[in-house]
Parts: sequence; structure tokens; C-alpha cells
Amino acid sequence: MPLIKTTAMFKKAYEGGFAIGAFNVNNMEIVQGITAAAAELNSPVILQCSAGARKYANSRYLVHLVRAALEVNDIPIALHLDHGPDFATCKSCIDDGFTSVMFDGSHYSFEENIAKTKEVVEYAHAHNVVVEAELGQLAGVEDDVNVSAENAHYTKPEEVEEFVSKTGCDSLAIAIGTSHGAFKFKPEQCTRNADGVLVPPELRFDVLAEIEKKIPEFPIVLHGASSVIPKYVKIINDNDGKLDDAIGIPEDQLRKAAKSAVCKINIDSDLRLAMTAGIREHFKAHPEHFDPRQYLAPGRDYIKELVAHKIKTVLGSEGSAPAIMALVNEY
Ligand SMILES: [Zn+2]
Repeated sequence: MPLIKTTAMFKKAYEGGFAIGAFNVNNMEIVQGITAAAAELNSPVILQCSAGARKYANSRYLVHLVRAALEVNDIPIALHLDHGPDFATCKSCIDDGFTSVMFDGSHYSFEENIAKTKEVVEYAHAHNVVVEAELGQLAGVEDDVNVSAENAHYTKPEEVEEFVSKTGCDSLAIAIGTSHGAFKFKPEQCTRNADGVLVPPELRFDVLAEIEKKIPEFPIVLHGASSVIPKYVKIINDNDGKLDDAIGIPEDQLRKAAKSAVCKINIDSDLRLAMTAGIREHFKAHPEHFDPRQYLAPGRDYIKELVAHKIKTVLGSEGSAPAIMALVNEY
């Protein structure tokens, strides 16, 4: 099966009240861990590369790693550019065989964002590739994207209809309180539950509902949606790591979002934490090891465990691969 666009994935996700996981990939072990979990659970998956990942690994390596995953696993996979900063980067990915690109014009004015997004959409659609755009700005740091809390702002529901119709984009990333990175909230922004665990402020589901009303059935994307699973943070800290106050989005809120028009949930920090946990745990137990396979394999195992957990508990996409494959030829 070839790489597919996200169109059939989002249609089934919207109808079925689930979301597709979009996982960031940088190397072979990450691709293998994610796709092994998705294949076991018969789930579609989006593998995405940031501009930073393309710089690190070289875009051609990433494309071929993802193609290898398709040969090994019989599941629908889309290859997506995460946070394309300009037309040239989007074009380069489209020419490289990506099936979906994000153009992130969220830091431009509304009019400039429309004009620049439209340029990418025209090129992408002419090459059978879909485009994710962004309105509103998330706080936090992820690779080359760095937005301070003061500059972050929620998506304005009154803008989405005009933006979507003028740009022709295929999905829309919105800001409703998620943020990039593993330190999404300061402890003082949170309350403590009965177990003493920090609970961050709730996502703005009211803003999401307003947006859904303006653009019914349009696929919505949540960035910065790692939950920063305490298990992996604890393993890292117990094995000579130092991640104080790492706080993510509670999974019950993400599950609630997945049941709505949110069709794509981005997960990067959780992958980084899982892999680091596996490697740190291994090195602490086996300081004498120096074969990269010895320590990368446990990192890959934790990635697989994490992705399986996300598919079952957060995304709800388990078992949906056949229905999506059946629909692919229509799009
Ligand atoms: Zn993002």
C-alpha cells in the first residue's frame, strides 16, 4: 500500500469520534516503535517530520524509513511535514513524496497567513497533497518554533470560516490551551488533586465548540498534545535524569477532544520522554554496555508501549485501519 493522504483518515475519525495520532519521527527506532504498535492494533498513523528532523536526518532518509515501515506493516500511513516555515520547505517535502504538509503562518497577520497558506495549498493540491494550516498561537518550544506565553493566543472562532474558505486548506490547527514541549504549565498555574498530582487548567472546550459551529465537520488539529506521562518522567529522574515540573495535558481531556471535530492529535514530547527513559534505565543498569543496539532497543520498546497506550486510551483509533483503507481510493 502506498503512503496515503489524511483525507480518508479524517473522514473516518470524524464520523467515528476518534482521532489519528501524529507522531514525530527522527530516526529508525522511532519509526519502528510507532508503526509496530499501530500495526498490532490495526490503527492508522501519521508520521510527521519537523524542519529540524529533516535537518538532523536528511529528508531522504526519513522518506525511505517511512516507506520501509509501509512495506513491513499493513496499515494506512501518511507522511506529514510538521510546522513548515515557508513555501520552499513545503514544496521540498511535496517534491520528496510527503502526502501532507503543514504551513505554519500563525505568527503572521491574518491577511498574510491567508496569502501564504493559499500559495502552499495551490502547489500542494496540484500535486495531490493536503495542507494543514494554523490560526492562533500555542506557547512553548518545539524545534524551531518558540513562542512565549505572552505572545500565545487562542484561535478566534470568528476568523476560522473566512480563513478556511479563502485558503482552501484541508485541516486547521487551533490554539485552545495546549502548548509545545514537556513543560507546558508552571506548577503555580495548576491545582493539586487528591493524590497530590498537579492538574493544569482545562483546555478551552468552549472555544473548540464555537469553532466547530463555524466550520462543521472540518478536521481540527491539536498541537502540543503530549500528556507528559509521569511513568516515563519518573524513570528518567530515577536514572540520573533531571526533569523537574514536567507537566502535560491530562489524557481525559485529550480523549474528550478526540471525540469532537479534533481529528489529528500531535505527539512528540511523549515519544522523546519514552525513548530517553528506556535508554537511561538501560545505561544505569548496564554501565558496561556500548553496543548501540543494546540501549536503543529498550528505547524503541518504550516508544511502542507508549504509542499502543495512546491509540487505545487517548486516540480511540484501534481497529480503524480496514475502514480507512477501503475509503482511500475515493480520495
Ligand atoms: Zn506543533
